[in-house]
Amino acid sequence: MTRVRVRAPGKINLFLGVGSIDGDGYHALSTVFQAVSLYEDVIATPSDDFTLSVSGVDDPSTVPLDDRNLALRAAKVLAAATGHDGGVHLEIRKSVPVAGGMGGGSADAAAALVACNELWRTGLSHDRLHELGARLGADVPFALAGGTAVGTGRGDVLTPALARGRYEWVLITDDEGLSTPAVYRAFDVVRAESGARLADDPLDPFEVPPSFFEALLTGDPEQFAPCLRNQLEAGSFRLRPSLEDTIEAGVAAGALAGIVSGSGPTIALLCADARAADRIAERMRARDCTVRRAYGPVRGAHIVESDA
Ligand code: ATP
Repeated sequence: MTRVRVRAPGKINLFLGVGSIDGDGYHALSTVFQAVSLYEDVIATPSDDFTLSVSGVDDPSTVPLDDRNLALRAAKVLAAATGHDGGVHLEIRKSVPVAGGMGGGSADAAAALVACNELWRTGLSHDRLHELGARLGADVPFALAGGTAVGTGRGDVLTPALARGRYEWVLITDDEGLSTPAVYRAFDVVRAESGARLADDPLDPFEVPPSFFEALLTGDPEQFAPCLRNQLEAGSFRLRPSLEDTIEAGVAAGALAGIVSGSGPTIALLCADARAADRIAERMRARDCTVRRAYGPVRGAHIVESDA
């Protein structure tokens, strides 16, 4: 049977500045994404209907199998946009933690778009897929693009960033996810409580500072580490105070810096090199943390196998 397998990466936000709320209730964002080597694989095979199976998750109830699933929605959006008459079975093999702040659902949507476009031979350009992806979720365009990129608007208006080198990460995952909207609400509460401090402090701007890009160009994790910044983590810390302790423990274990990934609860620890990262991973495991190793940047959604 014809089958197409597409791989798409999870992401870490190296910088996440949160601005004001627009008319639709979304925060303006200023972010820098890095695609990392935790991958989602989506295998598409022909079917009359739109169906889905998911593996690689400890608790299957955390991933919806109906139209709330972003991959299934992506396939339907592509079919509608191209007039494709027929369905698909999508098999999702997950490695990115669910509701972990690493954009796993968005990676699935990106992979489904690329896989169905190949399976159905609908021939949409990368730009058109990007447009459809942005309708599905703000992080989908980046999962298509990969690498390192600046995101503005809701995070969906992308510009590639010049970056050198390879960054070694230790990721501390949490069985219990965090809801992204709940983290934004908690962030708003913290911001309201602290008056202008969080959003408007000139030392803590919403925009990515020029020094960030200079550090990214050096390709030197030690120079770059102090530039890691996630304003939204104030919301994640409010909902889960233990995350601050995990970052502290990571730095004590030898990491150059630690940050909440997106809305969390995954913690990303930046390490000096692969050997240091392996050592830090061991130390964090000894503290009973669930640990994954990854590096970045890596490429966006791409076909790894196709006989379409
Ligand atoms: P966000 O992209 O909202 O920041 P996240 O990266 O923290 O989210 P995801 O793993 O993408 O986390 O999932 C967030 C929620 O989206 C899940 O709790 C789940 O209910 C829903 N969801 C929809 N489609 C998927 C999918 N393909 N895989 C996982 N979760 C999905």
